Formats: sequence, structure tokens, C-alpha cells
Amino acid sequence: MINVTDSFVGHVLNIYLARATDREVLNTKVASGGAVTAILNYALDEGIIDGVVTAKRTNGLEGKAVVARSRKELLATVGNKWSIVPFASRIKTKIEENNLNQVAVVCLPCQAQFFGQMRDFPMLETDFGERIKYIISLFCMGTFAFETFINYLYLNHGIKGRDVRDIVLRGDVIEVYHPEGILKLSIGEIYRYLQVGCLVCTDYTGSWSDISAGVIETKPGWTILLARNKKADELIKNAKKRGYIEVRDGSPFIGEVINGAREKLARSQKNMMCMF
Ligand code: SF4
Repeated sequence: MINVTDSFVGHVLNIYLARATDREVLNTKVASGGAVTAILNYALDEGIIDGVVTAKRTNGLEGKAVVARSRKELLATVGNKWSIVPFASRIKTKIEENNLNQVAVVCLPCQAQFFGQMRDFPMLETDFGERIKYIISLFCMGTFAFETFINYLYLNHGIKGRDVRDIVLRGDVIEVYHPEGILKLSIGEIYRYLQVGCLVCTDYTGSWSDISAGVIETKPGWTILLARNKKADELIKNAKKRGYIEVRDGSPFIGEVINGAREKLARSQKNMMCMF
């Protein structure tokens, strides 16, 4: 029998609620608890990994793939990723340029699938999967078709793309932070500006990852972590033991994650029916 967790969010070994103990990390990541940053900081400090490849927002919604090797560099990468960074094409170069052999990759579920398949089932000489130690996937409901969404913001609300400071999802409302304040948009209104591929994407949590991480509405300020294997579970437990994060049982909250996953699956099925 397939259990409900497996069917909607993939295999999960343990579920945690976690948050950083470092005040600076916590203050920078108020909404999410900063647990991923803190765990990666622990892994870098201990030499478990030699770098983190992640996306960093550069200008408004734009971003680029960067390597972080220290707490300071990690903190510079925080923020929600609402535009997809052409990550996979650049990560190999980043890893080679920085001579990294044990990296953690922080990515979206579609990217986690690519990295996970490459690591677990290497096929090409050009694969670099053996250098990827941890894949950490962030929950994702979609990323924007960049130009279209920027045009929408400017034409309808007078906000220039480069001025967008952050975008936060709160329930059914997306908050766009800009110099004049916060613009609140209903999800229904802006779904049409998501990438077409996102509208048929079925993976909310990143089932190919080692750890999936996200925020749930009933526990703001905490990160919910799905540890999918023993290696990931040990990383979380050891980060706790060394005082980088505080941790609680997250299993009572898995229903909220499953709801997000179910919603995304239903959206995908509906859109597939319209498209084909
Ligand atoms: S919705 Fe799916 S395809 Fe779109 S960015 Fe998220 S994981 Fe990738």
C-alpha cells in the first residue's frame, strides 16, 4: 500500500520543524526560520561540504547561480526565489571554477529532479553528480515568466522590476515589496504569469532531494524539513546537536504540506486537460 505521504510528497524518513539559533540568520529569514541557512552553515563550518551552490537575487526579480563558502556568503543569498535561475547550465562551471568536490545544492523541485537523476543514475562523461553531496529543495508553487510578470507589474501597478525587493506568499495572497510599500495580489490574478511549465508541474516539495524545506502557514518563523534519507536525517540531527538549529517534531504539520502538494497536482491535471 502506498501511504499518503509517499503519494503526494515522495518518500520521507523524518519530519521536523526547525529554526536557526543564530540571531542574524533568524533576523534575515524571519518568515522561514532560516533552518536551511543554519544547517548549511554547520556543514561548511565542519568541512562536511566545501561549498553551497544556490541562487542569489541580483536585481529585482533577477538572479544568478552563486557559490557560498562561508556564513557571510550564505546570508547574502537569502530570499524567496520567484524567478527560475538557469541553474543547471551554470552549476558545472561554478563547481569546476571553484574546485568544489562536496557541494550542497539549494534548488527548486524541477532542478532537484535533474540533479538527483544525474547523481543517482550517471549517464554522461560530463555528469558532475559525484560532486553533489546534498540536494536541498525548496517548496515551489511556480516561478514567473519573467518578462511578462515584470510588464504586468509596471503596466498595472507602476512598479519597475528592478525595484522589487521581495515577494512573499501568504495564504492566497502574494505580497510584492517595493520602495513605496507592499502590493497585495491574489494568487488567482497572477497565476497566468507563471511559466507554462510550472502550470503542469506536479512536484511541490522536490521528491528527488535529500531534504525538502518550506514554510507552512500555521508555523510562521519555522522551517518544515522533510528528511528523505539517513544521510539527510543525520545532517539535521547533528546541526541540532552542535547548536545551529532548534528542532521540534514536524509530523503534526505534514497535512499542510500534503495540501500544498495536492493543490499543485490538481492544478497540473486541470491544466494538462486544457492543453492537450
Ligand atoms: S513549479 Fe515546478 S517547474 Fe516551475 S519552478 Fe517550481 S518546480 Fe520548477
